[in-house]
Amino acid sequence: MKIRDVKVMLVTATIPPERRWTSDFGTATKSSAAFVKVETDEGVTGYGEAKGTPLVMKSIIEHELKPLLVGEDPTRVTYLWEKMYNGSRLGLSFYYGRSQSRSTAASGEVMCAISGVDVALWDLCGRAMNVPVFKLMGGAVRDRIKAYASAGHGRLGHIGQEFASYVAKGYKACKMRVGGMDHPHMVSGSRARVKEAREAVGPDVLIMLDAHGSTGVTDAIKLATAVEEFDIAWYEEPVIYHNMAGLAEVRRSTRIPVATGENLYTRFQFHDLANARAADVWQPDTSMAGGLTEMLRIAALASANEAQLAPHVWGSALLWAASLQLAAALPNYYIFEFAQAYSPLLTDIVSVPVKVEADGCVPIPQGPGLGVELDPEVERRFPFEGETEERLPII
Ligand SMILES: [Mg+2]
Repeated sequence: MKIRDVKVMLVTATIPPERRWTSDFGTATKSSAAFVKVETDEGVTGYGEAKGTPLVMKSIIEHELKPLLVGEDPTRVTYLWEKMYNGSRLGLSFYYGRSQSRSTAASGEVMCAISGVDVALWDLCGRAMNVPVFKLMGGAVRDRIKAYASAGHGRLGHIGQEFASYVAKGYKACKMRVGGMDHPHMVSGSRARVKEAREAVGPDVLIMLDAHGSTGVTDAIKLATAVEEFDIAWYEEPVIYHNMAGLAEVRRSTRIPVATGENLYTRFQFHDLANARAADVWQPDTSMAGGLTEMLRIAALASANEAQLAPHVWGSALLWAASLQLAAALPNYYIFEFAQAYSPLLTDIVSVPVKVEADGCVPIPQGPGLGVELDPEVERRFPFEGETEERLPII
């Protein structure tokens, strides 16, 4: 079996005014995605999501990566990952691991592109062998995973009701946005909303906080101190992700576990995170950090460093499906992120329902590959509008 073609499909979902949400990033009005399709000469295809700028993903994958892939055996996934990452220095990588000739491959848009191709290759292998991807990773350690409701954009007076609605659906864990979205009262305003949330759900539901790196170290420590009494499961990106010394400072100042990782790439940046002793919970994103191949390595690193692994899963149904395959295969996959914001690209484009069950868990799809079938009409139903993610500014 040989790779015949690699294509990128671009889609956009518009968010109607009554379904929009607002955070420190502004108000979301539409979201777009880039789906990678790898085709073979035997008619087997695989799909993955590349979470970079859609038009950039199309350019990198169809013009830079495709020539490295066409004619190759798609089941040599690790080899193809090294070829995309290390380019002309592929031979050196067999001795030193990190020897990429293209420095841009180490992070950013190129790594997003490699991630999408890698996921599509795993999907393709599973389909060719008629097994789910988790079987290729050593088999299942579970058939369902505890999920947390990820949103919590509700303002004061609304956040309690929002969280209660998630608990009514079965969730036993909920995440809310804090910090920048309560500007200018980032400490007192966030504390009041966290208090309302805790009173609404009672003592037995996990509450996580996400500040999107919107505060500096001093305010982050003040906020952690102000909400410690409400039994917080983790405090995510209290400061900007690349400030690992600052994250470590926040971590040392509070008993609340610190989480980060949705903006980090490859095992090498997570190695830096471990060395900085900056986080208790690691949150790599499969469609950015290096695909499923690299997620297995990051997961091993997390285990060795006694960090909990709670991958970032805010994206389309293909990221959701790939992440569930990891949840099936990885013993240290702690909890599954289930985005609650209105998102047709999550809920309306695959054959398997995207849902949480009454016990607060998500079942792992058992079909071949990623376990889901992408709607063949997805491009027609969601025509691309040329925006990565349009958000109305907050000020
Ligand atoms: Mg986050």
